[in-house]
Amino acid sequence: MSEQHERILHYIDGKWVASRSGRAIDNVNPADARQVLGSVVDGDAEDTKAAIDAAKRAAAAWRRTPAPKRGDMLLKAMRLMDERKQDIARALTLEEGKTLPDALGEVMKAINVLEFTSGESLRLNGSTMPSEMARNFVYTLRSPLGVVALITPWNFPVCIPVWKIAPALVSGNTIVFKPSPLTPWTAKLTLDCFIDAGVPPGVLNMVHGGADVGSTMVEHPDVRAISFTGSNQIGQQVYAEGARRMKKVQCEMGGKNPVIVLDDADLDLAAACTVQGAFGSTGQRCTATSRAIVLDAVADQLVERIEALTKKLKVGPGIEGGIDMGPSVSEMQMKKVLSYHDVAKSEGLRLVTGGRRVDEGDLKHGWFTAPTIYDRVAPDARLAQEEVFGPVLSVIRVKDWASAIDAANSVPYGLTSSVFTRDIGRCMEYADEIETGILHVNSPTMGGEAQVPFGGVKATGVGQREMGATAIEFFTEWKSVYIDYTGAKRDSKIY
Ligand code: NAD
Repeated sequence: MSEQHERILHYIDGKWVASRSGRAIDNVNPADARQVLGSVVDGDAEDTKAAIDAAKRAAAAWRRTPAPKRGDMLLKAMRLMDERKQDIARALTLEEGKTLPDALGEVMKAINVLEFTSGESLRLNGSTMPSEMARNFVYTLRSPLGVVALITPWNFPVCIPVWKIAPALVSGNTIVFKPSPLTPWTAKLTLDCFIDAGVPPGVLNMVHGGADVGSTMVEHPDVRAISFTGSNQIGQQVYAEGARRMKKVQCEMGGKNPVIVLDDADLDLAAACTVQGAFGSTGQRCTATSRAIVLDAVADQLVERIEALTKKLKVGPGIEGGIDMGPSVSEMQMKKVLSYHDVAKSEGLRLVTGGRRVDEGDLKHGWFTAPTIYDRVAPDARLAQEEVFGPVLSVIRVKDWASAIDAANSVPYGLTSSVFTRDIGRCMEYADEIETGILHVNSPTMGGEAQVPFGGVKATGVGQREMGATAIEFFTEWKSVYIDYTGAKRDSKIY
């Protein structure tokens, strides 16, 4: 497979088209900014409106296509993605920076989502209800919304689009999809699987660009619903603007995910999972571990273990073998990480390891920073409260279980969390008390399976959950049907 791509175009009404403005931007390898992988068109409001018009025209025929047929197309897309997974993973590593095994894992997850969601086409069930009146048949059916907008970030550029596109399609909606400008190549390769699987022209459209494209999607009267994943800053705007226009909106946003390590935990396991959760994907997962909340009694032993494991991590281009951690996705993202090291310095935090850019040899051409641990961080320090979205772990020492839960719940976010303990009572209490949408016991904060709902609480998530059967809830609405089969006018008692 070539390490470069041609200019990536919009996909509107079944055709690859250039941007009306003629604008394009370079797609650069974050592991080596000297390498321009290719370019992508930069769309505007006019391109976006053309895509929305196409989706609107295609809506009637698509909603009338039997759901199992729509499901078949997802199965075909799944098979194609499986055949192409190595190429998609390489493109993902080259433009986003995660290691090749990590990228392949992401593609496998997308394949699982396609498999699961294709089956949902056979389960778009409603129900029947007994009526208060004789010879009156009452049932509910699920109906598609119409044109939906899907707006996605760069950090899971295969998986997140797939976990939105698949349920939207299977439910009978037509789509305008806007990937992140940082990951257009994987977006194109992902889209190709659906196109080659036979999704008809106009049903699935892709427009590249930034705020212009995104806000046109949110504001356009023909878009019925918006499914957004990204930062809180943009998500809040999308939610507010969507709500003002009475649209259905689903936003999955930032996280500040904790692990809690109790004094009866298997400390080797807790350390290994904490390091994996904090530095896997360069800490650029919404589910990354960014806080380790540890009971005083075992804090020294845990810190010693995570320090030793962290120091063994090999930082470098994810496309090479034997690399544990790739670069930040962009110079801007790297600068954000480095700015938090300045914050840590100004707050007098205790640096255990890392805290710097990695720029030895050729790595100076990429956006690498060292995996970093700060110890004895107060629960209300900026590093313990704000999403860094990079390889930075804050250790928060606490005296007991109650303070651990308080510290864990003290952030505005609530995506995922873990507890390490052998005490089943604590596990159950943890599930009751923790304010996160997903929680793990004795395993890392990251990870979610295709058939299980995914999403956060508090400032992390608003709207219905993604993935699993619940994904269909967002992309459909209910109709309640009353069929009187007496043929007579009756004195109804139904109000
Ligand atoms: P971002 O908010 O900068 O961008 C997300 C998308 O919104 C991009 O496609 C972007 O071009 C688009 N956008 C920009 N301005 C817009 C506007 N005015 N209107 C509409 N769309 C607009 O986020 P990012 O940097 O791409 O991604 C990182 C963030 O995503 C992190 O905060 C991370 O936690 C979050 N994330 C959350 C989840 C989750 O499920 N909770 C999953 C992955 C990533």
